[in-house]
Amino acid sequence: MKSRTKVVVIGGGIAGCSTLYHLTEEGWSDVVLVERDELTSGTTWHSAAQVTNFGMNQTMVGLKSHSIQLYKKLRDDPAYPVGYHHGDGGIRLANTPGQMQGYRHFASMARGMGVTFEVIDAAECARRHPLISTESLLGGLWDGEDGDIDPAQLCQALAFHARRAGAEVYRHTAVTGLIQHGDDTWTVQTDKGNIDADIVVNACGYRVNEVAAMMGVQHPVASMEHQYFVTEDIPEIVDAGHRMPLLRCPISDYYCRQEKNGLLVGFYEQDCKTWGMDGISPSFANDLCPDDLNRVMDVLEGAFRRMPVLTRVGIKRVVNGPITYTIDGAPLVGPIPGKRNAFCIIGLRAGLGEGGGHGWLLAQQIVHGEACYDTWCLDPRRFAGHANVELTSLKAIEDYRNEFRFHFPHEHRPAGRPARTTPLTAVLAAEGAEFTVVNGWERVDYIKPDPAFHPTPGFDFDETFDLVAADVKAVQTAVGLTEVNGFNRIEITGADRHAFLDRMICGPVTKREGRVGLAYLLNHHGMIKAEATIANLPASDRGSARVWYGSAAASELHDMDWLRAHVREAEDVQFRSLTNDQTILVLAGPRAREVMRVVSRADWSKDAFPWLSVRECFIGFAPATVLGVSFSGELAYEIHVPNASLHAAYLALREAGKAHGMTLFGARAVEAMRMEKGFLHWKADLLTEFDPFETGLERFVTVDKGAFVGKDMLLRRHRDIGMRKKRVTLTVDASHAPAHPGASVMLHGKVVGTVTSGAWGHRVGLNLAYAFVAPDLAEAGTVMAVDLCGEMVTATVIDPSPYDPTHSIMRH
Ligand SMILES: Cc1cc2nc3c(=O)[nH]c(=O)nc-3n(C[C@H](O)[C@H](O)[C@H](O)COP(=O)(O)OP(=O)(O)OC[C@H]3O[C@@H](n4cnc5c(N)ncnc54)[C@H](O)[C@@H]3O)c2cc1C
Repeated sequence: MKSRTKVVVIGGGIAGCSTLYHLTEEGWSDVVLVERDELTSGTTWHSAAQVTNFGMNQTMVGLKSHSIQLYKKLRDDPAYPVGYHHGDGGIRLANTPGQMQGYRHFASMARGMGVTFEVIDAAECARRHPLISTESLLGGLWDGEDGDIDPAQLCQALAFHARRAGAEVYRHTAVTGLIQHGDDTWTVQTDKGNIDADIVVNACGYRVNEVAAMMGVQHPVASMEHQYFVTEDIPEIVDAGHRMPLLRCPISDYYCRQEKNGLLVGFYEQDCKTWGMDGISPSFANDLCPDDLNRVMDVLEGAFRRMPVLTRVGIKRVVNGPITYTIDGAPLVGPIPGKRNAFCIIGLRAGLGEGGGHGWLLAQQIVHGEACYDTWCLDPRRFAGHANVELTSLKAIEDYRNEFRFHFPHEHRPAGRPARTTPLTAVLAAEGAEFTVVNGWERVDYIKPDPAFHPTPGFDFDETFDLVAADVKAVQTAVGLTEVNGFNRIEITGADRHAFLDRMICGPVTKREGRVGLAYLLNHHGMIKAEATIANLPASDRGSARVWYGSAAASELHDMDWLRAHVREAEDVQFRSLTNDQTILVLAGPRAREVMRVVSRADWSKDAFPWLSVRECFIGFAPATVLGVSFSGELAYEIHVPNASLHAAYLALREAGKAHGMTLFGARAVEAMRMEKGFLHWKADLLTEFDPFETGLERFVTVDKGAFVGKDMLLRRHRDIGMRKKRVTLTVDASHAPAHPGASVMLHGKVVGTVTSGAWGHRVGLNLAYAFVAPDLAEAGTVMAVDLCGEMVTATVIDPSPYDPTHSIMRH
């Protein structure tokens, strides 16, 4: 066994084997994998191992598609061939128009990744799968590349090829401890001796938190018991002369694929069970949980109705094994929050289908710092500290019960809520607020007209349309108030704070006290990493001179890790998170200044407090820090208040607002208004796949300012490659539905771009979308089409900021 290596991958299931293989593909051969038992002895060996292209966003589709391409290559490699039934085809069934509409959207989204899905009717489903009945069936989504793979052969093949490229695999070697040194390298302690390594990767499946504990962290991953059975041979299958397609059923919660000449049927029962919550026996390896088919009787009946042949055939084998879930159902693949040189590839619930792709994206992150796709949907930093294993278990149970039921736009399921609240949450609920969830925070979405109001879930504009229109109108003509909780706020102090930020930010950094600036941070490839509001606060009785770095609620751990990683040894810079201590009240509208004059003694005139100012003051008797910034495009104040005083500030503002017709508004109105302004959302429109020029942020880049992170690569790429895509604002010629993120932009039958955001602009009366399109199509007036859930709708490029393009209103 080596005593020193570059990377130690811990765990020899599909996650670990794929990571090891892809590290060697990326050119790193001094890498090892350690496995406590035999390869695949965790969950992988007994997996049903279905492999599909279907994913909820383009990154997921792209990585699954990579798995399929890789598995085909391995299948055909005579050096170590793998059993892979590629192309049996698979149907995701539907019995509601909403599901069918969703499938049309997913087909539109997948097309942008080069993947073809077909939406077919019930008769066509039955034609392609002769064993099913069409009772209560509307149709389904067809993936012609669906299939299944031999999981053990796959992992052995990946390990074989990795070994051939120089990697080493140590079986029967359990990791027992992890020690990180001052230079961020690691010593991996095993029962066979120590290995020093630059980087460690946790790929430990259901034992993820045993190894996480060795490095002092806990991951939001929980395990569920999951069962399938395999039938005896079925004469209809023997006689068919072709393999049966796969089925996935959101109506009765099961999947089904051919296994030899019988069927393998797996269940997502409502009466489901977590596993291993109180620890896992060290001897549980190559093992299964006891069968319990009684638990799946409810879903079994649905499967019998759909496939009557199942009632006539015997069961040969039952498999019940642990399967891991995270808080939102997607795995955690990437850097471990708060740690250096530590990565994970965990929480895989469809690890065979996805594992090839996850290992690929993780290896790219380890070797290059970033992957070819934006991997935020997989990033372990996307949940903050609130996401513990208890909360994850509640979401895991909910997710398991809804395995094949995708989330509709704006849908937030009830389990594990509320997780993060402010002193105002109950107050706003009493005012009729409906909440959306942002990084666990309950944030006002809109105000319900009555407690029984429930919009219809779907891809069309719903019953909130008129409510949002009224909220926007009130903000545009009078004044509105909303709470923005969870906003990430890092206080940066120290003499070198501005020099540090100057290096991190690609544009000018405002150093003047009392001033605010919007700034963009790039990664080392010159692509968009983060967006921040930089506010310079002078020394006061509340603290020394400092910068407030503000960014999206979801970026809490991501941005802190990025900033911390770039502080130089002798630099005088300190960080303190205020995210959980302060909450923002946003006051917006032409009467906002009048309200401020009533609640605060300061001079709020345009001269004394112009746009992009910051000052400390009191709102009534509540201490506050006020920023003159606007996401709505109206005159607005961002009022940051310590949570202890939040209710007091809110009452003062509400009281003062009465004379000015103040209303409450929520995130849906904000979304509509920011799109009319051309303002962007981090991880919707601000992605690591694009640089600031492609994103339309050239005015925030100062190329002649001296060194900043990403500058060299930005300039080199710009010189050598040029613009690959350009972000545009589109008007979509439809009044029934917005363009949804991921939808394909089409021209002459070809995909020329992808939508990142869409909403109705109530002030301009237009259906707006942002999309990244081919640069030659970015001119205003260019006409294309958006595939809006299967319907080709005309879309025209317009000015990026259709409402008040000169920003004169918000500067007023
Ligand atoms: C019944 C069932 C059916 C499934 N069907 C499908 C399907 O159809 N399609 C699909 O894509 N997915 C399916 N899955 C899920 C899929 O099998 C898993 O997502 C996948 O196998 C997880 O792989 P992994 O590498 O993350 O974990 P594992 O396979 O559990 O591997 C983790 C490895 O880490 C090792 N390890 C743990 N601790 C240590 C330590 N301290 N030191 C060294 N090594 C350690 C373990 O021994 C183990 O080998 C199914 C799962 C179940 C239970």
